[in-house]
Amino acid sequence: MVKDTKFYDQLGCSPDATESQLKTAYRKGALKYHPDKNAHSPEAEEKFKEISHAYEVLSDSQKRQLYDQYGEEGLEQGGGMGGGMAAEDLFAQFFGGGGGGFGGMGGMFGGRDPGPKKARTIHHVHKVSLEDIYRGKVSKLALQKSVICSKCEGRGGKEGAVKTCQGCQGSGMKTMMRQMGPMIQRFQTVCPDCNGEGEQVREKDKCKQCSGKKTIIERKVLHVHVDKGVSSGTKIDFRGEGDQMPGVEPGDVQFEIEQKPHPRFQRKGDDLYFHAEIDLLTALAGGAIYVEHLDERWLTVEILPGEVISPGEVKVIRGQGMPSYRHHDHGNLYVQFDVKFPQSINGPADKDGAPTTMTPQQIKALESVLPPRKPQAIPPPDAMTEDFQLERVDPMEGSRAKGMTDMDDDDDEMGGGGERVQCASQ
Ligand SMILES: [Zn+2]
Ligand SMILES: [Zn+2]
Repeated sequence: MVKDTKFYDQLGCSPDATESQLKTAYRKGALKYHPDKNAHSPEAEEKFKEISHAYEVLSDSQKRQLYDQYGEEGLEQGGGMGGGMAAEDLFAQFFGGGGGGFGGMGGMFGGRDPGPKKARTIHHVHKVSLEDIYRGKVSKLALQKSVICSKCEGRGGKEGAVKTCQGCQGSGMKTMMRQMGPMIQRFQTVCPDCNGEGEQVREKDKCKQCSGKKTIIERKVLHVHVDKGVSSGTKIDFRGEGDQMPGVEPGDVQFEIEQKPHPRFQRKGDDLYFHAEIDLLTALAGGAIYVEHLDERWLTVEILPGEVISPGEVKVIRGQGMPSYRHHDHGNLYVQFDVKFPQSINGPADKDGAPTTMTPQQIKALESVLPPRKPQAIPPPDAMTEDFQLERVDPMEGSRAKGMTDMDDDDDEMGGGGERVQCASQ
């Protein structure tokens, strides 16, 4: 039975509320009625002071006992505090803000929020070759994780040897008093008796397997299915396979598939892109190119005589792209041709690259198969004309941009040093 319920009513709690219920009620109210959120509202300010005072009393077990027994008068007689604490100070202390107010409460919704706690997720980028994505594979990845010690079942010591800390009643936090001139200031600090653990165990009773840490490090191999055609950036979750800790839900492990660059192919969705270099004769008179595919097949691709491939032209080989994810059809293989023109017609050019001449018969032969010369813009009859000759450009003089860059990063090792996941076997 309590003498007066006023303070409980102000917080919206019943007289048998637990410490944490009171705390939650104060947190809610303080945030709602804080003057920073309620400018020019004397009612809110009054309410803020009320709940602050109520919580200040009820959060102190000694004062709460006095209040329950004697009401407010009891506090005035027995209270050890000169004048009590200003509402703002309590607020700042509670939320850890420096000067009070909402600006300084950065982390207030962080770790202190009640609710189901979960160990953190272990993330790992799994680099996979394009060949492996083409064929699909299962990667065995080994992981170092914390698991609950099996010997002590996560207690840290012999059954019954682990005691709730007397200094903090197991909360891990302790309220301390400090004399500040005429005032006694109260503040919360990590319990020095148990270092915030909330529990104590004698050295000789500590579990031998985990040395009282409750968890041990274990190696676990996970089988990551790299499905055919999976796209780079796909995330694969292993729920509950992460770290274990006493009293919290085990964490997850998440793998992110990252496709390694390929030396021959570029991938866009389900399509593959390939660069083929052919000579002018092949482009005009036909021939064949060979494409080494991702599954050790070689594709023989015929270029028909007279098909005439122009430089930069793109052709498609249907159905030879990547397998589509979770379907059985394939994208296309696009081939872009780079046509290399000969340096000379009659054999190798001079060492300084001067053009060799063609015989009249050779010119005739070309004229017989190629379309006729296109007339150029001819100067009008009355125009002044001058004759010129072409010269070779010094290679150092002209800028040469080469489009394709070669990538030789085709090894199948796990990247990223210092990570907790390694390849167990291929
Ligand atoms: Zn143990
Ligand atoms: Zn303690």
